[in-house]
Amino acid sequence: MKLLHWILNALFPPKCVLCGKILEKQELDLCRDCRVDAPEYSSGKRKLQFLDSFAAVWYYEGNVRRSLLRYKFHNARGYAPSYGRLLAMKLLREHPEGFDAITWVPVSPLRKFRRGYDQVELLAKAVGQELGITPVSLLKKVRNNRQQSRITGTAERRANVLGVYRVTDAEAVRGKRILLLDDILTTGATAGECARVLLTAGAEEVHCAVIAASYK
Ligand SMILES: [Zn+2]
Repeated sequence: MKLLHWILNALFPPKCVLCGKILEKQELDLCRDCRVDAPEYSSGKRKLQFLDSFAAVWYYEGNVRRSLLRYKFHNARGYAPSYGRLLAMKLLREHPEGFDAITWVPVSPLRKFRRGYDQVELLAKAVGQELGITPVSLLKKVRNNRQQSRITGTAERRANVLGVYRVTDAEAVRGKRILLLDDILTTGATAGECARVLLTAGAEEVHCAVIAASYK
């Protein structure tokens, strides 16, 4: 096992998820420069509709944006454990009381099939591993809509996601304090709509966590 680990490390040395530099022995997930320079997100007390809170690791800009584009569109699914660790650390700080359940914003089955993986589900698994909670799929996409990233305007984005998601298991939702994961938060319309249907199904609280947010 040790030898295998050594060979894998020599062939695929761990790299900084933001800038791609090969990591030093004592570094994990991020190189020293990125750990200092990355645009850390400060959640503060800002409120988004239907969400009890939201947390993000970084602002969606520069190296963070490039990293997420590799993760979403260029098969860098190996970033999930790093993103998960960094996000879980933040959640443990901001929510020491924890959560009853972890779920995620689903993509359409067709998109998952085309991409070969659901990057948000992978993130949820990584965060769940850190928090000791196995994520459960509580939402499904019942209608295909236009990609949110192609739509500008908060009202238009909200309209585009209305009625798109449905709760799959109301029993698993009722009375629960739920952590909802997504990769990027822009206006909060998608996370808000997911939270709305979870609350309608009886969830007690819905907290959202993402890798990066452009919402200020
Ligand atoms: Zn770096």
